[in-house]
Amino acid sequence: MRGRFLARRPWLLLGALWALGGCGAGMFLHVTRVDLGDRLRLYLGGGGNSAVWLQGREALVVDVKMADFARRLKRAVETDLGRRVRRVVLTHVHGDHSGGLGVFPDVGAVLVHPRTRERLQAADRDGKLRAVPFVDVENEVRLVLGGREVRVLHFGPAHTDGDLVVYFPEEKVLVAGDLLLDGYEPYADTANGGDLLGFRRALDSLMKLDFEKAVPGHGEVVDRARAGRSRDYLAALEAAVRAQVAKGKTEDQAVAEVTLPEFPLKPLPLASSREKNVRAMYRSLEEAVRKAAP
Ligand SMILES: [Zn+2]
Repeated sequence: MRGRFLARRPWLLLGALWALGGCGAGMFLHVTRVDLGDRLRLYLGGGGNSAVWLQGREALVVDVKMADFARRLKRAVETDLGRRVRRVVLTHVHGDHSGGLGVFPDVGAVLVHPRTRERLQAADRDGKLRAVPFVDVENEVRLVLGGREVRVLHFGPAHTDGDLVVYFPEEKVLVAGDLLLDGYEPYADTANGGDLLGFRRALDSLMKLDFEKAVPGHGEVVDRARAGRSRDYLAALEAAVRAQVAKGKTEDQAVAEVTLPEFPLKPLPLASSREKNVRAMYRSLEEAVRKAAP
């Protein structure tokens, strides 16, 4: 039961992994504040990373963590930063990023991709989210908050089918959610519409943005070159698996032959690993070949 419970909620495992010190001791349990310029405050850890954009007496929060960490985040914004949370953006449906939404009952708008909204509403059996003022972002929304631009973008199915990133052009900062999991195998959560082939395309689009710093879904802020490694890995994986498919190799042969030691990434138990990603890529590419056949 426990296994099945976790299999359906792999984000709990992501959390557990970071709690065990996967990327810095207690990165999951300890919340670290990082200030980027005069407008952006990051709260790293305590679930998914959160970003807070300051605008006058108000704040926009990207990802609300879950449960107690959401309450701590709200307190920090109100007490330490002296702002009221006016808007929320959810990068995707996973509970370590969205679970604390109920802690913010009086926000003016919650920006989500419609697929994320539908999944949250479907799981909301006790009706807690009924009054949430969801605002759908299907492709892109440009906000001007406090005289500066904030862009919210969707690049197609990747980690889930409802991923959003938030881009601050003037600051050259990108908040990427779990589209970036620095140092870990990318994770396309197919149960929530994730798509590994789409993941590569999404990262291609993401790298076209002019940013210098990126905030991954978990772990520390990375520079542009480091963010690009995730895209490079998926491009290399796709090319290597494509070559296997072209040679008529089986999925198991592809697993044996596609090792890509130049990308030493850690697995996320029950969620992602090199083997799982080779298999997922193989199936996506085979399906694409089948669909293209007359
Ligand atoms: Zn996630």
